[in-house]
Amino acid sequence: MKKKAGIVTAVLAAAVVALFILSDALGGKEIQRTFFAMDTLVTAKVTSADPEETTAQIEAEILALENGVISRHNPDSELAKLNGKGGEVSTELSKMLATLIDVSQKSKGAFDFALGSVSDLWGFGKKTAVPEKERLADALSHSGFEKITLSGDVLTFNDESAVIDLGASGKGAALDTAKEILRNAKAERAVISVGGSILLYGEGDFTVGIRKPDGNSGEFVATLKTKACCVSTSGNYERYFEENGVRYHHILDPKTGYPVSNGLVSVTVISENGLLSDALSTACFVLGVEEGMKLAEEYGCEAVFITENKEVYATANADSMLEINDKSYTRAVQK
Ligand code: AMP
Ligand code: MG
Repeated sequence: MKKKAGIVTAVLAAAVVALFILSDALGGKEIQRTFFAMDTLVTAKVTSADPEETTAQIEAEILALENGVISRHNPDSELAKLNGKGGEVSTELSKMLATLIDVSQKSKGAFDFALGSVSDLWGFGKKTAVPEKERLADALSHSGFEKITLSGDVLTFNDESAVIDLGASGKGAALDTAKEILRNAKAERAVISVGGSILLYGEGDFTVGIRKPDGNSGEFVATLKTKACCVSTSGNYERYFEENGVRYHHILDPKTGYPVSNGLVSVTVISENGLLSDALSTACFVLGVEEGMKLAEEYGCEAVFITENKEVYATANADSMLEINDKSYTRAVQK
């Protein structure tokens, strides 16, 4: 993570709870509510008959998902209680795990939902030192999606030191929670942003920007014009630290336990489903352009890859949605 980001995050967490911006839009009323959840800032911009109520519900339900179900750091969450031990899983969590196991398998382990022993050792956001080789090798020996099986609603750990880490998919899952609330509230339009994952909800077109890796969050390499969907970006600029002039970022190669180094700086995935868009953005980042493109297409999703060489690769349908804004980047084609 960027220097002092932990402190900034803590200050934001204290300061931004329930910040409202009111304005009239369409037939209903538009509200923007900002709060802290899933280790990031969440912004919910909603137009509905009662947007105060809708956004309050979105905040409450996302926090309930985090603290009650998927956080591995909150000892009271369902996942924290299951980690290392297994047992009966709620329908909500077992549905998520089934999708994540599927992505782990289809990506041949490039995406690994059971990488927690390794990601905990790196501790991005909390620690800023490269783990010792021996400790990393030990953590790696206790990671791997095949160490955990889900049969119906029963989760079994074949290695008690294996740890499920939903860091690569939790923000996307939060979008699915928000979408359900918006549907029930019959909201007209909404944009819900949870870190690098965004839900676009309602009729008509939306434009989302793909952030410039070396720029501010408001600077874009390209924009995507799309209908309602979920868009997730995984970037190596999101969380990292530097040691001896080397940058160590938070997307890990499950084969080595070290940050992926394959020339990519970000991958953006578009899907109907938030969980899938988030999991696939991480999976496609680890796989690289060629294999990542195949995986996205296997799931019927679109993807945009940005490389260190300022090339932009896109799946066929994403191509027609894409406009490159920064002319130092060029559109490239996978051979
Ligand atoms: P994202 O920002 O969605 O790409 O997720 C990155 C987070 O997912 C990291 O902070 C780790 O907690 C976790 N993670 C890192 N590498 C992987 C991987 N190869 N497979 C699954 N989760 C990962
Ligand atoms: Mg992800």
